[in-house]
Amino acid sequence: MTLPPTTQTVLDDAAELFRKAKRVVVLTGAGISTPSGIPDFRSEGSGLWSRDEPLESASLSTFRTTPAKFFNWFRPLASQIFHAQPNPAHTALAEFEQAGHQSIIITQNIDSLHQKAGSEQVVEMHGTLRTLSCTQCYKKFPSAEYLIPFIENGTIPQCASCNGILKPDVILFGEQLLQSAWQAAQQATRQCDLIMVAGSSLEVLPVAGLPIQALDHGAHLIIINNTATYVNVRADIVITENVATIIPEIMKRAIHG
Ligand SMILES: [Zn+2]
Repeated sequence: MTLPPTTQTVLDDAAELFRKAKRVVVLTGAGISTPSGIPDFRSEGSGLWSRDEPLESASLSTFRTTPAKFFNWFRPLASQIFHAQPNPAHTALAEFEQAGHQSIIITQNIDSLHQKAGSEQVVEMHGTLRTLSCTQCYKKFPSAEYLIPFIENGTIPQCASCNGILKPDVILFGEQLLQSAWQAAQQATRQCDLIMVAGSSLEVLPVAGLPIQALDHGAHLIIINNTATYVNVRADIVITENVATIIPEIMKRAIHG
């Protein structure tokens, strides 16, 4: 691939920050999964938004009052997530960690694509689709055996012990973040000396505030996103490009010099 000379310099500078950093945090949002075919269901204008109102359908209150409505909305998204594969951005971040660097990913995504790519240190701010929990007895189940019948036939997953409805372990609108995830994210952010925002417009609080916490503790900031974020003015490096193109270029330079 041929990149313009200015971009080459910026990529080299970004790679240098990665090479020098002792503790890296990479904060990822929907933009890192769209190249894998998963729509940004929280953004207006995306496919699922125009089809339905995600704020209402993807809310805890809808799940509690009319679970069929939630599952009907959730089914195409679950199918896309189940079939999605990591893209070069996920793979490059995993390779950076595997090369021996201390690197933690904090993600707003529920698709497990970082783990599928091989990343080990991943904090999932909005939960995961890998497991489901019974809304009555709180027993946890691995998704696979429930997700496939649900995707294929729309069968609402039910608890094998008590017949309660199973809720995917994802954070719905109106639901609190998991305290354990939030604490892990804050600790990693305060300890890092480099934070990179990748594919997030930083619009969803409190996660959107993490780069400021890192800056306040003296970290460098790199932002790769196709639209501007509120914290661009404070970043060392801003690259307004596709993450799936840019991240592999940075990691290649950071790993191999
Ligand atoms: Zn149960």
